[in-house]
Amino acid sequence: MRTRVGIVGAGPAGLVLSLLLAERGIDSMIVETRSRAAIEETIRAGVLEQGTVDLLLDHGVGARALAEGAKHDGVELRFGGQGHRIDFAGLTGRSIWLYPQHEVLKDLIAARLKAGAVIRFGASDVSLRDVASDAPVISFVDTGGSPVDLRCDVIAGCDGSAGISRHSIPDAGRVDFFRAYPFGWFGILVEAPRSAPELVYAHSERGFALISTRTPEVQRMYFQCDPEENADDWSDDRIWEELQTRVAGDGFRLTEGRIFQRGVLPMRSYVCEPMRYGRLFLAGDVAHTVPPTGAKGLNLAVADVVLLTDVLERYFTSGSSELFDDYGPTAARRVWRAQHFSWWMTSMLHTAPDASPFDVRRQIGELESVTSSTAGSAYLAEAYTGWPFARLGPRGG
Ligand SMILES: Cc1cc2nc3c(=O)[nH]c(=O)nc-3n(C[C@H](O)[C@H](O)[C@H](O)COP(=O)(O)OP(=O)(O)OC[C@H]3O[C@@H](n4cnc5c(N)ncnc54)[C@H](O)[C@@H]3O)c2cc1C
Repeated sequence: MRTRVGIVGAGPAGLVLSLLLAERGIDSMIVETRSRAAIEETIRAGVLEQGTVDLLLDHGVGARALAEGAKHDGVELRFGGQGHRIDFAGLTGRSIWLYPQHEVLKDLIAARLKAGAVIRFGASDVSLRDVASDAPVISFVDTGGSPVDLRCDVIAGCDGSAGISRHSIPDAGRVDFFRAYPFGWFGILVEAPRSAPELVYAHSERGFALISTRTPEVQRMYFQCDPEENADDWSDDRIWEELQTRVAGDGFRLTEGRIFQRGVLPMRSYVCEPMRYGRLFLAGDVAHTVPPTGAKGLNLAVADVVLLTDVLERYFTSGSSELFDDYGPTAARRVWRAQHFSWWMTSMLHTAPDASPFDVRRQIGELESVTSSTAGSAYLAEAYTGWPFARLGPRGG
């Protein structure tokens, strides 16, 4: 089998890349280990930057996000028992959208299959060969048990944080930047109406809490916990008491409901450099992971593939690989800004296990600086709603 761009992984990075390439007339094929049903049922991200929504709309896959998602013009930072709104729209003219990642994926998969794209779901034993040569290969075993060699001009590794593609970059030429945080997020999904019109990020003496939403009927809530915590050890009553205590003050209370999913999420930052090796380009979580506090992961994956599409369009239209070298450093600039923002939000709002009273007072001082200063609020609003996409080639620099 042959294709121009072999894409490993049908997550946001792989599917958006396949969509953008098709619109530029570039043939691609996706190899994915999971089934379509498993992808469409996995609940993950919920916050889409304005640029991500605009891109989905511009490419014909944003109608449902617009109709069923919720536009948020700000967020609330709660500390000292009081809410402080950051007005995204007023400060930046931009907003965010709450629309679940698995719904984005349903929209993308349906659109790609309708357009005749090939997505090989349920592949196993996926491996990459000859990525430094002009003829890289993705090998896999298909659902019928037959081995397949997919010959490509280039490979896009879009296989997420547990993916294999980055391991094709030799250890000697790869740097893995990694940080594990000394806390995790205890997350629940709840059948209940919204407790607040916008997302609530709460700093409290008992640690951080985030009140988010997925749909008008399903709410996502998290609270900071020990990364080794066993979610099954917690009764529903204990979870609600913990959450209510962390957001308490000025009469605010969460609307409780049936908890139908729970789990503990580790908090990590990771960056792989370089993001290109030979004919292998990495995009999305396989190249970088951010703690979810800044809601950046999916949005970064989209920003990577916007850039990668420019690089590949230049290559396939003019035969010039001159932009190959620019991909990694250009993508990494946004990645490191997002790493900083996600780390900053995390460290400002969470209580480290060894935090002293000084550290907690300093955090309150920082939160007051951010919420009482237009410049401070504007930085948060700009970063949260998302910076403009970097472009290369005729559209960019
Ligand atoms: C609880 C939670 C909340 C989050 N909230 C947000 C948020 O609000 N906003 C935000 O922007 N981000 C958020 N994120 C992050 C976001 O979900 C990820 O950054 C995003 O999914 C990355 O997309 P991706 O395509 O790079 O990787 P993935 O979505 O992980 O997709 C990779 C795909 O590759 C497949 N794959 C893996 N290995 C192989 C292989 N060997 N061969 C072939 N296929 C393979 C996988 O099955 C998967 O389908 C959140 C994440 C979590 C867990």
